Amino acid sequence: EIGISLIKLPKLPLETQRATLGTFSDPESGRVVDQVVVTCFRQPHSSTAEDVVEISCHGAPVILRRLVECCFERGARAAEPGEFTLRAFLNGRIDLTQAEAVRDLIESQTLYQARVAAQQMEGSVSARLQPHKQVLLDLIARLEAGIDFAEDDVAVLEWQEILARLDRIRTDLEKLVEGYKYGRIVREGLTLAIVGRPNVGKSSLFNCLLNEERAIVTPIPGTTRDLVAETASVGGIPLRFVDTAGVRETQDAVEKIGVERTMGAIADSDLRLLVVDASEPWTAEDAHLLHKLRPLGALLVALNKSDLPPRVSLAELEPSLGADRSAGVAPPQFVRTSALTGEGIQEVKEKILETAAPTRGLGPEGELITNLRHQQLMQDSLRGLGKARQAAEQQLPHELLLLDLYDTLRPLDLITGATYADDVLDIIFKTFCVGK
Ligand code: GDP
Repeated sequence: EIGISLIKLPKLPLETQRATLGTFSDPESGRVVDQVVVTCFRQPHSSTAEDVVEISCHGAPVILRRLVECCFERGARAAEPGEFTLRAFLNGRIDLTQAEAVRDLIESQTLYQARVAAQQMEGSVSARLQPHKQVLLDLIARLEAGIDFAEDDVAVLEWQEILARLDRIRTDLEKLVEGYKYGRIVREGLTLAIVGRPNVGKSSLFNCLLNEERAIVTPIPGTTRDLVAETASVGGIPLRFVDTAGVRETQDAVEKIGVERTMGAIADSDLRLLVVDASEPWTAEDAHLLHKLRPLGALLVALNKSDLPPRVSLAELEPSLGADRSAGVAPPQFVRTSALTGEGIQEVKEKILETAAPTRGLGPEGELITNLRHQQLMQDSLRGLGKARQAAEQQLPHELLLLDLYDTLRPLDLITGATYADDVLDIIFKTFCVGK
């Protein structure tokens, strides 16, 4: 009604899913403001499964604002963030995993992320879990029937058969949970801190990795005082490079703050790249940095300025690494790089992915679990499954086994939203942007 009162159309009522040309006149002046296209989607033929009217104007913000204002004056209101998606979910158009994927798709920074989200929006997560839910339901039904109609000779499942079915589910759920290590990275990206003495070429390498001039490169030591961060797509994953202030003992107050910030960024990042100037001898400061970085986790070392005659050899570093080996820590990975010629840059990118995402490439991307909520619920389900297995192994009464089977099934239901709590919905839809 609101739409029709504002827009003159050649023919009414509007046909569903048909675009019609109309004119929007300002109700105050009666003057034509814009030529628009009106598309009507009658229920259930819309994304929310409700009646929807879409009005497309020419792009000028003033026109859009005036039309929206006129709609508001006639009683319409703006949608809450995520309201359309919520309605689609409440009307049974999509399940919870699909609703979550809508947000991931909107927020995607790389095409790869978008592809994974789009598959989830089509229901890849639910489709993946559906067969397992079916097996559990079937088991539950058979056991319930056996209890309720004990005297009616219902075929009883062998314990061996029950265990075999549970194990098939377990193997697959474990694989999905394991895949989340990579899935999380796909969804959230990675942060790499670039660390090193002043003037070893951190900013230059940072620029090479990003393929653009961003950090300021100067030949005077100690000039990169601020943290500079940029995001680039590496193998479809948003990789945030943080170029840090040179770490060294200093009296300069401003530089001191920079050094403190560096240590914070280093601790917060997922991975660390230590840059060493290989055209100069290995210094006590390099050794000190290596020593500080080792306990923080995976470490890449760039032996930079490889275009110049080398004065650092891996043999020299051996004393610093020997301690790692005896402590059972994986040694750092070394790459020869040159910010000048580009040598080793590709290798650094590959090593970053290899180190941070060892489960990469396990199974097709449509099977990837990228959502922490899904991963945690799968783990809950696996816990239920573990108990059910024990019950089956000990051949406990079916009533007890059933409780564990329900504990296995329920978390899977919560993933897709067959049963849900309002607070879960709240968390999921709260962070949506307006209009989706
Ligand atoms: P940072 O202080 O560690 O960020 O170092 P910069 O990136 O500012 O580089 C310091 C100096 O080393 C600059 O003059 C760079 O041009 C030079 N430089 C950086 N990387 C290389 C390299 O791979 N080869 C050569 N020959 N010079 C480099």
